[in-house]
Amino acid sequence: MHFRPFSIRLRDGPPEIQAIDKRFDTRGMIELTNLSKNYGDGACVRALSNVNLRVERGERIAVMGPSGSGKSTLLNLVCGLDQPTSGSVKIDGLELSAMGDDARTRMRREKIGMIFQTFNLLSTLTALENVALPLRLQGLRRRETDQRASAMLERVGLKDRAQHRPDALSGGERQRVAIARALIFTPPLLLADEPTGNLDSTTGEEILHLLDGLHREYNCTILLVTHNVLAAHHCDRVVTLRDGKVVQEVRSTPASDGRR
Ligand code: ADP
Ligand code: MG
Repeated sequence: MHFRPFSIRLRDGPPEIQAIDKRFDTRGMIELTNLSKNYGDGACVRALSNVNLRVERGERIAVMGPSGSGKSTLLNLVCGLDQPTSGSVKIDGLELSAMGDDARTRMRREKIGMIFQTFNLLSTLTALENVALPLRLQGLRRRETDQRASAMLERVGLKDRAQHRPDALSGGERQRVAIARALIFTPPLLLADEPTGNLDSTTGEEILHLLDGLHREYNCTILLVTHNVLAAHHCDRVVTLRDGKVVQEVRSTPASDGRR
């Protein structure tokens, strides 16, 4: 820990210094300390209770647990969409509660990609426009946003579907579009809430293999909320929540079928 002040100063330096700095880098990608979240007053719901969790850079974590155990609450706190009742959330070493709204929004845009069970694509936009949207919102020019979105669609295997709207795509294809959109800024952290929940098992497995490949390529940290036991085999560690508490944490043995 005593390297930290030194480390923060060097992080802004030239690449060769940053490379040295990385060896002393003690920041986890996600650090949750005594994290609690209550909803409502009086007889309130304790959705999360004293959760401590550290996720290293490049690590893949599956969060499992029954419905209502606090999984989505955890994701909302990690991405800064909701605020904890008590405790701390650090993303890439940055304490979220110390940030203003603008800084938190910027952090989410630059550091976090999100995918959801229901894909959350805009139905009036084509696949290409959906993927390009975050870039357009940044004010980048059409030609550049289309090029980058097109390359990302190709990466997820949807080059031929660029001009289709979501209702002309299958569930698996929609999730691929959503993944391409989530990764358009190549964020260091990918959060997924039940990404295979609306897909049949074969399509779900294809999506998990796609995430494996993207993880290898970008070395992003992945936090995957899932009911799918098979999904755990695509992660390094499985954390189980029950009634808002971490009740189990086990190392997983990632599948080694040669396709990872
Ligand atoms: P999971 O994603 O594991 O199904 P959630 O995080 O959605 O669980 O919910 C955890 C608990 O918090 C549940 O009891 C749920 O009813 C409650 N809860 C979630 N969101 C809210 C909210 N906005 N207002 C009140 N209670 C909520
Ligand atoms: Mg949920």
